[in-house]
Amino acid sequence: SAQGVVTAEMVDDVARKHFPPCMRNLYDRLKRDHHLKHFGRLQLGLFLKGIGLPLDEAVVFWRRMYGATMSDDKFNKEYKYNIRHSYGQEGKRTNYPPKSCQQILTQNQPGTQDSHGCPFRHFSPDNLSAFLSSTYPQIDKGSMEMRDILDSVKSTHYHVACTRVFELTHGVKKGEGLGGNESVAHPNKWTDRSRELERE
Ligand code: SF4
Repeated sequence: SAQGVVTAEMVDDVARKHFPPCMRNLYDRLKRDHHLKHFGRLQLGLFLKGIGLPLDEAVVFWRRMYGATMSDDKFNKEYKYNIRHSYGQEGKRTNYPPKSCQQILTQNQPGTQDSHGCPFRHFSPDNLSAFLSSTYPQIDKGSMEMRDILDSVKSTHYHVACTRVFELTHGVKKGEGLGGNESVAHPNKWTDRSRELERE
């Protein structure tokens, strides 16, 4: 990534400050449950690779997150391989890229037990509103901003809704998006831009 290496130690801080809603949701669930289903692990894992978490730090990160809910033996046998695989170190050695919004919106539709996907597309309006207001203090439940966001979602303009959340949580004027009117099309773009803004 443009911002250099992220260690397992740093992930929590970067998550709270710079993760887009889809990844924040996955990360918070993982932290709470010490568990994520396959597509959730894949979506978050590839994203973390994209923000600059190297393979060895990814192994440390996931081992820590699963914690005591999993034995070292099970982790090494079943999970480590998949982490190495997603970094292109096993099997066909494909270095899979992080998923774009378009892929997250359209591939592998999440079931009720899943936490992958895009909150704007896959949450009910009530759940979305509760999730956004509890995650981002800048967006109150009954506010005009929240109504704006829910209106965009209703007309299936998910990237518009997500871009609005970026603006509201980064003190960016409406319409400026990630800069130069660019809207959110990739979760890693959100994080890269968010980290850039912090340093400016
Ligand atoms: Fe994530 Fe993209 Fe959905 Fe935003 S629009 S929450 S970045 S998938």
